[in-house]
Amino acid sequence: MKVTFPHMGNTYIVAKALLDDAGVDYIIPPYNNKRALEIGTKIAPEMACLPLKINLGNYIQAYEKGADTILTTGGRGPCRFGYYCEMSREILNDNGFNMDVITLEVPQDGFTELLKRIRKVAGSLNAFKILKIIKNTTIVAKRVDELERLTYKIRPREIRKGSTDKIYNEFQKKVRDVKGSSQILKLVEVTKSRLLRLEIDKDYKPLRVGIVGEIYTTIDPFSNFYIESILGNMGIEVDRTNTVSGWIIEHMLKAIVPFKKDIRYKEAAKPYLGTMIGGHAQETVGNTVLYAKGGYDGVVQIYPLTCMPEIVAESILPAIERDYNIPILTLIIDEMTGEAGYLTRIEAFVDLLKRRRERAEIEQNFALSGN
Ligand code: SF4
Repeated sequence: MKVTFPHMGNTYIVAKALLDDAGVDYIIPPYNNKRALEIGTKIAPEMACLPLKINLGNYIQAYEKGADTILTTGGRGPCRFGYYCEMSREILNDNGFNMDVITLEVPQDGFTELLKRIRKVAGSLNAFKILKIIKNTTIVAKRVDELERLTYKIRPREIRKGSTDKIYNEFQKKVRDVKGSSQILKLVEVTKSRLLRLEIDKDYKPLRVGIVGEIYTTIDPFSNFYIESILGNMGIEVDRTNTVSGWIIEHMLKAIVPFKKDIRYKEAAKPYLGTMIGGHAQETVGNTVLYAKGGYDGVVQIYPLTCMPEIVAESILPAIERDYNIPILTLIIDEMTGEAGYLTRIEAFVDLLKRRRERAEIEQNFALSGN
């Protein structure tokens, strides 16, 4: 058995830690790329959302390298994600790619069924060893997310433009060559110290923008045209609430262990969207409110064309924009999205935020001078 898995931002690092520690033979598909998208677009239904198309491309590119089994998540859920696992299997088989698909999500039948699926991939590991691997994998996910968050702070403040991207890109390349969670964690620490040693402008007060929306397109840089890096290099500090570790902890682990879930976004979303309608719509609405209350200068919502939950969220965002006086930009992505038009919209949004800040400063100075 040669396992592979879909890409979504840094998920491959977490999957690598898990499979290395479990001693499973695997193939990492080439990082998300135009060819993967083209392959997926050709064999997926036209109206399927972008993540399914890119993931089908990932599977076929991994198949070409010898993979025969796909590890994925998403065996249930009210939006289309719930049946994408079955759909992928059928589309692949219909197109002559005979691959098995195993979902690593806590099924309705509970933890025992999940253990059975893990053993199907990892062989006869005992439950204690499996729990240890899950724990170490979760730590890797958390540390990698923290590292990414550190780049959000340093990028807009760096003195030598491009130095954060250089170090972070090196990390993403080197991580493929190390083995297991302990070596990955060491590399994360080394990269963190390199980032912290960069010279920054400590007095610079960047504009702050929160990124919300559908989980795949917000987390995956190929899908969102590297928006975090674009904004950071324009001097904007970003923040994103959707993370790989958050997803593992809130959606997977807390479905097994009865720890209290983080429901701050639900509370914040209540006046606008009081129920879970699938995907991350409630998170989008709630986190937009939280960003507004937290003094952020703007919010960017990103989602793939035809994503039902985010379409609903988008229809609610103007009310939050009005109630909290915060600018919100919505970016919808599909395989036809042109990079130039996309960039122009981001630049126009940043100009708007800059002008708002300048106006606020003028008004403040005017009030202070007593005129
Ligand atoms: S959340 Fe949106 S993009 Fe993701 S599977 Fe559901 S409908 Fe598709």
